[in-house]
Amino acid sequence: MKDQKSHLLEKFLFGFLNFLSDHVLAIALLLAFGFVFLQIFKRESHHKNAKKLLDKAIKSGTNEPMTLHPEVEESMCVGCGACTTVCPEGDILRMINHKAVLVGPAKCVGHGECERACPMGAIKLVFGTKTRGMDIPRLTKNYETNVKGLYIAGELGGMGLIRNAIKQGILAAEDALKNLADAGNKKTDCDLLIIGAGPAGLAASLAAIAAKKSYLTIEQGGFGGTVYNFPRQKVVMSHPFDLPLIGTKKFVSNKVSKEELLDYWNSVRSKTGMKIKEQTRFENLEAVDGIFKVKTNAGEFTAKKVILGIGVRGSPRKLGVPGEDTPKVTYNLIDPEQYQNKGVIVVGGGNAGVEAAQMLGEKRWNNRVHLLVRSQTFDRCNEDNIKRITDMASKNLVTILYNSSIQEIKPDMVTVKTADSVLELPNDFVFVFAGAEMPHKFLMSLGVQIEKKFGEGLG
Ligand SMILES: Cc1cc2nc3c(=O)[nH]c(=O)nc-3n(C[C@H](O)[C@H](O)[C@H](O)COP(=O)(O)OP(=O)(O)OC[C@H]3O[C@@H](n4cnc5c(N)ncnc54)[C@H](O)[C@@H]3O)c2cc1C
Repeated sequence: MKDQKSHLLEKFLFGFLNFLSDHVLAIALLLAFGFVFLQIFKRESHHKNAKKLLDKAIKSGTNEPMTLHPEVEESMCVGCGACTTVCPEGDILRMINHKAVLVGPAKCVGHGECERACPMGAIKLVFGTKTRGMDIPRLTKNYETNVKGLYIAGELGGMGLIRNAIKQGILAAEDALKNLADAGNKKTDCDLLIIGAGPAGLAASLAAIAAKKSYLTIEQGGFGGTVYNFPRQKVVMSHPFDLPLIGTKKFVSNKVSKEELLDYWNSVRSKTGMKIKEQTRFENLEAVDGIFKVKTNAGEFTAKKVILGIGVRGSPRKLGVPGEDTPKVTYNLIDPEQYQNKGVIVVGGGNAGVEAAQMLGEKRWNNRVHLLVRSQTFDRCNEDNIKRITDMASKNLVTILYNSSIQEIKPDMVTVKTADSVLELPNDFVFVFAGAEMPHKFLMSLGVQIEKKFGEGLG
């Protein structure tokens, strides 16, 4: 019986192998066609989805980017799609008809991964479009303003992200210190005065130490810049960056908590002996005979070159509604644990607002959180954050109100207008994350020219 079975099996295998060898070409062709068909099908459905995203952006008016975004030179795009898979913010570029197309420009924060991934050099990051200009300070490629010897590095120059601020701080400091002779032989308190101790100021200070030049870094608050004011345990996303004297720093999965990042910067500070004059507020400066006189609340300092790395968080964008000037309205969130069993409204559908709503909406705090989003989608927020907040909304931890805005803030109530109704929401705290006003008037008072960029890069 056993012999008969193995004989049958042998016969079957033999027959099957014979069949394969007789039809090997046909089978190979079939598999190849199947593979090609699958690829075409996948590509077509990818294009269809991308087209849907583009239509959605056109409908919501977010297809015309007002700020920083990637611009694709269509004639140079070979349709490889490399740029569509690298952006940490998600769907900004997608393939439509074999060309990279902007489908979510408002989400761009300036990582520049698409620019680096394009093998043809067909992508560059630009400010504004041909028809819609964006105001930013006029800067050279080394971040010098039109005021000779005065530099702007970091977010104040129009581009966000820690890694960009670090890169710009280094470039600005190196250029400034290379050209000290411009100031002649005049005696000054330092060669380079750096204003602001965020990532841009930190990197510029390290570059000055590395160049063995005298420098003074002043900071109105404490070391760390905007990161210091991030919510407790916020996950900070940062690709690797290079620091003078230290080398390349890379975090696991490009993520690090606020506390770990500040600890790291503090370790860099003590390792290099970096000096920072804290609680020193910059007020004004003037260029006199090739040097700068810098006024602060702690007196006047003179320097041959100055770097402004003051960021933009000093002037958060306000809503301009009645009741906004009350203590229950704030423009950042540092300690979510402070808010428990409260009625909370978070305004803003960008990453900062969405992350704040996630933290305040955690079940353990038992808050009633409403997230107000101005448009009908999250068009300024990365995919991970969208997924997390919609997940929380499905568990009733957060209520998302699209197409909504605040009309009035009262002591225990907030009036909210949505597309089809006006709601009165019982409320204890309002958190506004509507971005920041660029301090252009202040810069102009220092002599810095502000220019409108119509689809151009920096410098
Ligand atoms: C909620 C939120 C989340 C973010 N998440 C991320 C993230 O995950 N990854 C990322 O890469 N980026 C993130 N960013 C952006 C990032 O924080 C900024 O792009 C970066 O900090 C800019 O660095 P900067 O040095 O230009 O300015 P800042 O970090 O803003 O530092 C400027 C410093 O200048 C000081 N200053 C201001 N005015 C004066 C004055 N008159 N005199 C003296 N000092 C002054 C300020 O006190 C501050 O310390 C986030 C931003 C926010 C608001």
